[in-house]
Amino acid sequence: MRPGELHLDGKVMGLSGEGVVGMMSSTEGNCDVSKLIVQRVTKDFAGLRALYEVSLEVRQGEVLGLIGPNGSGKTTLLNVISGLLPVSGGHVLVDEIDITGWAPHRIARKRIGRTFQTVHLFGALTVLENIEVAAVGVGMSRRRAGERAQSLLKEFDMERTAALPAGTLAFGQQRRVEVARALAMQPRFMLLDEPAAGLNERECDEMLGLLASVREKIGCGVLVVDHDMRLIMRLCDRIHVLNYGRTIAEGTCEEVSQNPEVIEAYLGSAEEEGEVVSA
Ligand code: ADP
Ligand code: MG
Repeated sequence: MRPGELHLDGKVMGLSGEGVVGMMSSTEGNCDVSKLIVQRVTKDFAGLRALYEVSLEVRQGEVLGLIGPNGSGKTTLLNVISGLLPVSGGHVLVDEIDITGWAPHRIARKRIGRTFQTVHLFGALTVLENIEVAAVGVGMSRRRAGERAQSLLKEFDMERTAALPAGTLAFGQQRRVEVARALAMQPRFMLLDEPAAGLNERECDEMLGLLASVREKIGCGVLVVDHDMRLIMRLCDRIHVLNYGRTIAEGTCEEVSQNPEVIEAYLGSAEEEGEVVSA
């Protein structure tokens, strides 16, 4: 299976249009794999520097965890990558194309999907429509978008919810629909902002299983923010740690969990906020 393909119902759904071209040029012939690169990104909000020259790289097929105490700049970084916020300095590149300053819809068409810290579904639209809208938004025909949405709901074992207004679903299910919606865009890279926030232990386990299967089946690059260290440790190949907008560590789960600066940052915030880091 090539990276970027999703096998659903025995069918292989590859990327189309711009996506295929981008993929082929970067993955064929043993060239480098597709990469999302954040280069020395700085972000200022009137008087507050939320990110200080942050650099990181996500390769297609790998899961990079982004962690840090509350207010350390994780959501801001996802917002900058997806074009919701302009950078104050630095660059974001996908396959060597500089997408800094592009509008969010244009970045989405580069197959960069995302979910939000707070659920962003259209509550009055059906579950199916919520997913279809995302697929149509990246240029898919209505018919293909519908097929894709149906396949995703089947894959997520949520077919029975297809015709229900998304706003009527339980919170844990809404989070799953958000992931399905990001996948409807056939992403090369997915940005997930706290996908397990607000979930109980069982729902959190289900989300972990879902994300692990996404990783296995799609092979896109994933940048995932979460406070649930069990989810992060089990899902991620590498972890990037922010504190007050600066990178304080980067490495394997083991390296990061033993890093004194990381432990200090978390213990400091744990005293204030009741958070604890544990491997
Ligand atoms: P995290 O996701 O790691 O909890 P955020 O990226 O949400 O952190 O926030 C980083 C810092 O930037 C915080 O101090 C926050 O208050 C500030 N911030 C985030 N968004 C805005 C905004 N739109 N305007 C002003 N300050 C913001
Ligand atoms: Mg956040």
